[in-house]
Formats: sequence, C-alpha cells, structure tokens
Amino acid sequence: MNVTALDALMRPESVAIVGASTDSTKIGYTVVKNIIDGGYKGKIYPINPKANEVLGLKAYPSLLDVPGKIDAAVVTVPAKLVLSVVEEAGKKGVKGLIIISSGFGEVGNKDLEAQLVAKAKEYGVRIMGPNIVGTLSNAEKLNASFAPILPLVGKGALVSQSGALLIALDMATFTRKVGLEKLISIGNMSDVDFADLVEWLDKDDATSCISLYIEGFKDGRKFMEVAKKAIKPVIALKAGVSAHGAAAAASHTGSLAGAAKVYGAAFQQAGVVQATDLNNLFDLSLALSLQPPMLGDNLVIITNGGGVGVLATDAAEKFNLPLKFVPKDVQEELKKYMPEFGSAKNPVDLTGMAGYDWYHDSVKIAFSHKWTEGLVVLYCETAMTNPMEIAQGIKKAIDESGVKNKPVIVSFVGGEKSEKAMQWLVENEIPSYSAPDLAVHAISALREYARMKEIVSEPEDKLNNIDKLAALKVIRTAREDGRDALTEIEAKQVFAAYGLPTTITKLAKSEDEASALAQEIGFPIVMKIVSPEILHKSDAGGVKVNIKDDVSCRDAYRTILKNAKEYNANAHIHGVAIQEMAPWGTEVILGSINDATFGPTMMFGLGGIFVEVLKDVTFRVAPVSKKSALRMIEEIRGAPILAGVRGEEPRDRDVLAETISRYAHMIVDLQEEVSESDANPVLVYQEGRGLKVVDARIILKKK
Ligand code: ADP
Ligand code: MG
Repeated sequence: MNVTALDALMRPESVAIVGASTDSTKIGYTVVKNIIDGGYKGKIYPINPKANEVLGLKAYPSLLDVPGKIDAAVVTVPAKLVLSVVEEAGKKGVKGLIIISSGFGEVGNKDLEAQLVAKAKEYGVRIMGPNIVGTLSNAEKLNASFAPILPLVGKGALVSQSGALLIALDMATFTRKVGLEKLISIGNMSDVDFADLVEWLDKDDATSCISLYIEGFKDGRKFMEVAKKAIKPVIALKAGVSAHGAAAAASHTGSLAGAAKVYGAAFQQAGVVQATDLNNLFDLSLALSLQPPMLGDNLVIITNGGGVGVLATDAAEKFNLPLKFVPKDVQEELKKYMPEFGSAKNPVDLTGMAGYDWYHDSVKIAFSHKWTEGLVVLYCETAMTNPMEIAQGIKKAIDESGVKNKPVIVSFVGGEKSEKAMQWLVENEIPSYSAPDLAVHAISALREYARMKEIVSEPEDKLNNIDKLAALKVIRTAREDGRDALTEIEAKQVFAAYGLPTTITKLAKSEDEASALAQEIGFPIVMKIVSPEILHKSDAGGVKVNIKDDVSCRDAYRTILKNAKEYNANAHIHGVAIQEMAPWGTEVILGSINDATFGPTMMFGLGGIFVEVLKDVTFRVAPVSKKSALRMIEEIRGAPILAGVRGEEPRDRDVLAETISRYAHMIVDLQEEVSESDANPVLVYQEGRGLKVVDARIILKKK
C-alpha cells in the first residue's frame, strides 16, 4: 500500500477544492467554507474556471494552474467531469483525492468508477470515495467535507460507510459528549477501503481507537489480515445482517450462514470488538479509546447502593465476566471504609453513607491490589453526598495508585450534578456511563478485546497425511461427467484424502455385487442410493440402515432402486452404496460455504433437532486451528452434551477438534473447486474412540 499518498491525503499541507463555488447553495461552496471555518492551517486552493476568488481566497482555473504543490484535492464536480479531474490531479502531482461527487457505482455506473481508479493508479494517486461526505480531523483542524462542523474533540476515529449517518454522528458527538479525533466517510471504497484506513489509523498518533460503521466489505480477508495486526482497538458495527446468504441453500450450512454469523466470526477471529448498536458503538469507543484492555477476569465492583450493585452483577454475568469474591485480605482492608451493614465481598457495597473519603480509599485499595484486573465504580446520587466530590475522589485514587495497565469504568446514576461529574471524569479520561449495565458492558468489551487478541496471535497448526492430488482427481472425474455435485462415495473419498475418518463405502451396480460387497464389509451394513440428482437420500426412501443378512440386503437393493425411480424418474442412478454400519454416537454436523466476502467458512453444530430447530451452530472463517476448533465445540449452547451430562461419558472432543481443523484446511485447499459441503451426520464416540463421518456432501463451484 502507498502509505505516503495516504499520509498526504489524511494530513495534507495544502488542499484544493475542485468545483469550489461562489454560490452558497453548492457543495463546492460549503466545503471551502468548512475548511476555512474549521481553522485549517495549510494552503487552500479553490479551483473554478469562472471565478477569481471564492470566499475571499484566490481561485484557479484548474489544478494545473496552482503555483504550489497540492497534497489533497476535494472533488465536488459532476460525475462526468471527475475523470478529467483525476487526470489533471495526476499530472499536477496531487497525492490524494477526496471525491465527494456521486453518480458512480452506487447508481450502477461501475465502469466510470473503475476508470477513475485505473487513471489514479497510473499516477499513484489515492482515492477516497467517490460518493462521500468527506474527511474531518480535529488534529489537522481540517473539515474537508460538507458536514457542518468538526466533531467534539476526542481520541477515537470513526469511519462510516453511510454519509448521512456520518453527518448525524458528527453532530451527536456534542450531545453525547463523546468526542472524535477523525470522522472519515468511505463511500464506494473504489480505492481506499476499510483495511487501508485501519492500517493507516493504527499508525496515526492522534488516533487511539478505530470505530467502523460497516455495510459490507469488498474483500473480507484483506480486512481480517490488517485488523489482526492492529495495535489499537478496532470496533465494528455491522449493519444489514438479514438477507445475505439466503440464496445459497443447497446445503444446510448455506441456509444457516447469515451475514451476522459470518461477519461475527470474522470480527472475533481478527480481534475486532463488535458493537451491538449505535449507542453501543459510542459507548465502546469511549471505553476503548481511553482505557487499556482488561487482561484477566477478576472484576471488582464498588458501589454505594445495593440496587445498582445487583444490576451491575447481573450485567457482569450476562457479558461473560461473572463476579468472584475478592480475596480475604482485600476484604479486611475494605471493611474499614464502610459501616457494619456494608459488604466487602464483591460487589463492594460502601452503603449510602459513603462520601469522598470512603470512595477514595476503597477505590485506591481495590485498584492497587494485584488480584484486581478491572474496576467498575458505581455511584447512586444521594442527598447527603456531592457527585463532583465523589468523582474527584475516584480520579485521585486512580492517579495515586500508579496502576496503568488495568481499566476503570464509572457509572453515576442521578441528576444534573451526576451528569456534570461524569463529564468531568470523561475529560479526565475515565469513561463514565449513566447506567451500571452500560459500564459493565464497556469493561466487558475491554476484556473481550484482550481475549480475542490472545487468540489472534496463536500460531497455525501443521497438518500431515493430506493428499490434495487424490481429492482433485475425484473432483476431476465428476467434472468430466458434467456434474456439480459429488456423490456421497466421492465426497467421502475427498474427506478421506484430508484425513477425516469416514465409513467404508463401496458402490454396487447389481444385486449380486451388493451381496458380495456386504459379505466383504461384514453385516450389519447400511445401503444408500447413489445418484447425483438425489442429494437428500432419506427423502427419496434411499437409505436402509442395520441390514443384517443377505436376504435383506438383496431386498433393500431392489427397494432402494424402486423408491429412487418413483422419487425422480430422470435421476441418473450410479447404483447403491454399501457401507459399514457405524455404531451409535452423538450426532454432529460439520459444513462449509464459500462466503462471497470471506471465502471458505466453516460451520459446526450438534446434529438432529439442534441444527434443524434450534440452529445451534457456530462459524469460523477457515483455516481453523485445533485450539479454535475446541472453542467452537465449547461455544455452542449444546456444548454440555459433548462434555458429558448426567453421568454420560464425555465425547471425543479432541478428535472432533482435529477433524474440524482438517475440514477447514480442506475447504481452503480446495476453494477453487468446492462451493459448499457438509458432513451430516458425524457420529462422535466416547473419549479415545474418535468419530465417523457417515454422510458426506460436496457441491462444486459452477465452471
Ligand atoms: P441423507 O442423504 O438423507 O442425509 P444419510 O446418509 O445422512 O442420508 O443417512 C440418513 C441417516 O442414516 C443418518 O442421519 C444416520 O443417522 C444414518 N446413517 C447413515 N449412514 C450410516 C452409517 N454408515 N452408519 C450408521 N448410521 C448411518
Ligand atoms: Mg445426511
């Protein structure tokens, strides 16, 4: 990536406005005015062939007429003129263009947009947009946009794919009192995309945290790679989580994988904190821009009221940070700062009598103690105490503790005095919220962030016994046959090439062959129809299990063929699969899709009603390490079933995790060929006994 061009684009020493206007109703006027009003210290060059000056600044007929160098140019001219502006900019040596003009990809004008990018590439010019509001930076005092004002000063950056939302959030920084360092409108992302900006902002001294409002990525993997490496926290709010993936329903996995799930998995894997809604985006950006990550689960809550204490305790459990009692020595210390009826356990309840001193002393003790890994301080406004004093007590205690690597979050519940006190706290870099659950949600995000970052840095597994060529051979045979669907036998051959344990399965083309193969494999056996047109074999009466002798085998052969013909008279019948009958085990499903944004993506869940009705499944963008696979196994709701409930022995989660990891490796390896696949069901046995894939399905990409 051309970092220097982005530098010039984001921190320009001079800015031109192509389309600068003397008409106050035009965007070209507003942008010049905003740049002036924002207090920009660099050179400003309005470009307008018909005017001598715009808003008191000398105007130039074209970029090429400007005497000095131009770092960035804001473009507001109609779409049809933009290409020639890009050409001029290239010739002039402009580093970056902020193309506000619309009328490109967003209205189907993709060719014109592609031409802009191609032309810009020729000259090494970077493009923001087109179809954007612009770029705003407090550090640069640069409002290169048509949003009315620079946001309230803060430390975070917000990148928004929606222009209207960006303008609204700009103004909301003042009412919410959560400031921003930068606001960047990303629009059509013809060139500079989320990944480029995350990479750049991560190195920008003025930014401490990166928030993203995302409607969709063009290249999900590129984003993941950059986000994984980011030193600063990245927060994402993903909009539009409903429709995606609905079309691809040839397999179970396809129908279960919605954008929410795949994006959610990708964010988690890349160490990106996910905001639940706009309010939460502001809340989290406040916490993550001001406080360090929480490195362990030991959370202490200090309160002056039982009610808010209980609410915070509930929230702690909900947000995956259940409270533990603080160690005895801390309890003894803390008891000095509360009456008899207080509680030193956790939440630490100082009672309504707590004023400046008790808050100060108890916060200092709790925060300094090595057991504590994060602190939430709650205050319920009372008639007897002064919120500002409490706030000052908290701040002083934190400063005096000298502790820098733990987060502290505050919540005051009360009226105007409390609000003022909280604002003071925020100005002093202590995030404060108007409700206890918001404070706990924020600190849990700091914890989640640290957890994810640990996982992101885990190394990849090395897998042996993989025969990619064997898998490709099977696929080629099906292709030569003009098919997009592998038969179960073929799919199992592919799985086996990646070391997945599958049932012995052989093809019988006649009743006699069926009988002979049954003898060879040994009763009991399972028999299934083999036809590329019959993907759901049971629906066609095409599966017979537990066949114990030769007579039943021959009988089943005839019945299966008859059923298949009745089900679909045009189906090509390859024959009947004879397979070993696997012993009963816990049914799970493994599956994959080739997601449009993230590519090969893995699914895991419990089989049967768990997947059919409860949709209790989890996703990861492939590859998946064995460690991550174990986490998948632990995070589904039905996890206790595999862990062993009510005297049942635990299932072989180790082999299951290895199998998931191998499967994920397979779909990455074969991504040019495989569109969707599943192993449904896989039967999982007791610890040490492994598992068996008893049904396999692979749908190839259309070629
Ligand atoms: P379908 O195409 O209908 O999904 P399956 O191959 O999954 O067909 O078979 C249906 C069910 O039969 C499976 O869910 C499983 O319970 C059982 N089954 C299939 N093959 C075997 C086998 N080899 N050993 C034991 N049970 C099997
Ligand atoms: Mg099946």
